[in-house]
Parts: sequence; C-alpha cells; structure tokens
Amino acid sequence: MRAALHQAGAVALSELLQFVAPAADQRQSPCPCGHHAQYQEVRSKPVLTMVGPVRLSRPYYLCSRCHVGQFPVDVELDIENTEFSPGVRRMQALVGQQVPFDRGREQMQILAGLEVTTKSVERTAEAIGDDIVQREQEEIQKALQLDLPVITGEPIPILYVQMDGTGVPVVIQKALQLDLPVITGEPIPILYVQMDGTGVPVVKKETVGRQGKTEGQPAHTREAKLGCVFTQTTWDQEGYAIRDSDSTTYTGAIETAVEFGKRIYREAWKRGWSRAKKKVVIGDGAEWIWNLVAEHFPGAIQIVDLYHARQHLWEVARQLYPHEDVKQKAWMKVHQKRLLDKGKIEKLVGVLRSIDTANPQMAEKICTEADYFERNAERMRYPKFRRQHLFVGSGVIEAACKTVIGSRLKQSGMFWTVRGANAILALRCSHLNDRFEDYWDERRAA
Ligand SMILES: [Zn+2]
Repeated sequence: MRAALHQAGAVALSELLQFVAPAADQRQSPCPCGHHAQYQEVRSKPVLTMVGPVRLSRPYYLCSRCHVGQFPVDVELDIENTEFSPGVRRMQALVGQQVPFDRGREQMQILAGLEVTTKSVERTAEAIGDDIVQREQEEIQKALQLDLPVITGEPIPILYVQMDGTGVPVVIQKALQLDLPVITGEPIPILYVQMDGTGVPVVKKETVGRQGKTEGQPAHTREAKLGCVFTQTTWDQEGYAIRDSDSTTYTGAIETAVEFGKRIYREAWKRGWSRAKKKVVIGDGAEWIWNLVAEHFPGAIQIVDLYHARQHLWEVARQLYPHEDVKQKAWMKVHQKRLLDKGKIEKLVGVLRSIDTANPQMAEKICTEADYFERNAERMRYPKFRRQHLFVGSGVIEAACKTVIGSRLKQSGMFWTVRGANAILALRCSHLNDRFEDYWDERRAA
C-alpha cells in the first residue's frame, strides 16, 4: 500500500520537477562575481524525496567570466549540491543525531521505505549540524559587535589563567562581555545555569600533543563542555525545588572555556537571564566554570553541587582511615552532617587544617581538600540556599551529560573528529531545545 502510494506520488512529483528552458529574454542569471551567467541547457539529476526517487530537470547557467555554473532551481528548492530533498535530509539529520548512523539508515528504511547509505546519513547529519554551528557562531559574533562601542574604550588588562579541561593551561584575555539585546517578556522567578564537562572519544589526530589523564600517556578523549538553562517557580511541601517542566535547554561543544563562556552566556540571555529575579549558577568545583561565571554572570548566586562537595569530604575520610569503612562513615557523620551540610565551611576548613599527620602525602592531599573548601566557602552555604528553596545539586547537567552526549557520542567503537562531534552535538541540542523546526523555517525564509 505504502509502496504503491509512494510510487504514484513519485510519478506526480517527477512531472512537477520538469523545468524547461527559459524564454529567450530570460536566459541570464546574475553571478556572484558581478557578471552574468548564460543559460546553457537543461540538465537532470536524481533526487531522493520522501515519496522515493524522482528525476529533476532544470536549466543550467554558466558564467563566462568566472566559469562557475549554477542551477537557480536547485537554490529555490534547497537541493543545491545534494541529491536528497530537504524532507529526506531533515530525516537523515534527525536519525543521525539520535542513533549511530547505520541504525539511522535502517530506521529510514523501516519507517519511511527510503533507501539511503550509512555514509549519506553521516554526511547529511554532519552538514546540517555544521550549518547550525555556523549560525550559532554568527549570532555570537553579532552579539560581540553590538558591544563594540563599549569595548573600544579602555582595554581591560586583566589576565586569567584557566584550564581548558584537558590539563593544558591556557592564558586567555578577559573576554568581552556580550551584550545581547534585552529580551522582553514576563519576569522569571528563578533561572538556573548549570555546566559540566565530559570526555568524548576522538580520532588520534585530535589529541596530538595533548596530555592524557595518566602521565606520559596520550589523551584519547577531548572534553565536551555542556551547559543547560532551566527555570523554577515553585517547591514541594517539604520546601524542595521543583524544576519547571519543559523549561530546560542545552548547549555544548568541544571548545575552550572562553568560547564556551560566550556560548552559555548567549543561551542564558536567550532564555531571559536579564529578566530573571533570581539567577543561580551551579557547578562542581572546576576552576574554568567559576572563572567563566565571574566574567559572564557576575551577581548570580553561585552554588557548588552538594554531592561533589561531599565526594571531596569522602576523599579526606579515605585518606584518614584507609580500608576502614566504619571509621570513615563515623567521621563523615560528624563532618558532613554537622559541618558541610550546615554550611559551616570555615569550621570545616579549620578542622582539616588542624589534622596532624606524619605522612607527607596524606598531609598534601588533605591540604588540597582544605583549599577546595576554603576557596568555595561562599558557594557552600547550603542551609541559606535551602531556605530560598533553591536547587543545590547539579543533577540536571549530569543527567544531560549522559543523555545528550554519552548515549550518542560515547558508545563503544566510536571515535569522532572534533568537527563531527560538534556538528552532532549541535543537532542534538537543537532537537532537544525544540529549535530544529525553526532551523528549517529559517532555511526556507532565506
Ligand atoms: Zn561569474
């Protein structure tokens, strides 16, 4: 039945796609070089559409000055340099961001009766993802330009040293604050930004010269940085925060902290950062996150994920009582419940600093942890945050690292180029953010 319908559709569509030679007075088409392209002949090519393969015939023009040929009909139908209709490409991109490319090919065959190659799913998904990446970068650049009058004044000679997540320190100049036009609308009670990083397995050439996690070993992954933005209006009977349903959007890429800073800032602005009554950023203790917050989100309430903080405390317990579960738990009971969870960080740091040990290695580790709590003290006032009914955990972004990145980009046997991974990640975010259809609308409008 479907096959018959498709066949009938394909026949009808093929007839619609027979463009004839232009009239004698319309045999010129403007060329980007400034000259004019002359009509040559009608040429045809196969196009795979939602109803199956059809043949398209359309006029071909050639510029005598720059020798570049063109098919104006292809531009109009959005099938320039491709043998797949926009509908088929949309499907290839959709399955390609969801599942491995070969399974995507299989799904198109089963669900739509369309025969495509695995490679074509990969190429199309990455090409459309790339296009989304380009558009995002243009938006970010535009936002930067808006800010030009402000930044041409005094240069700000502050240098931050940041980690880009791979262990390689990079010195970056204080980036310029993006100044996107203020988005008008209802005020938002509480807006959250959460960020995290996760390793994506990459092909060898993408890790050349990069240090792996084990000393002397090359890296096999590159860190993708992922951010999410969501809102909260209410809390439950016990006072725990409730995330507004369908309020979460995602953005991410394998890129430097500086680039990611602009990306997450733009996403927060899109979501109404400027009209949020309460602004909250939650992250683990990673330095790049808090440097970025200082730069792009000054004035936000900063919270270190409670569960990460507890992990750091467990680290101390394990140092103090190696292989002694009962003693570790007893120590945690006191120091977690009475100090950390209560936000009494100065007291906790005091306890850690006063631990006396003859073991220099242990002393160093405990000192590192004490520094961590000291540095983040203001971000660990958990009772204060709870009284405001705020989230104190970064569960949303951690789950997102698994669902947005892990389930698609970190399956066994997968090795990505940075470009390919970023394209698929852009596609995934676009789809999850319900912006994929907007992308096709913009394409049609262009
Ligand atoms: Zn030309």
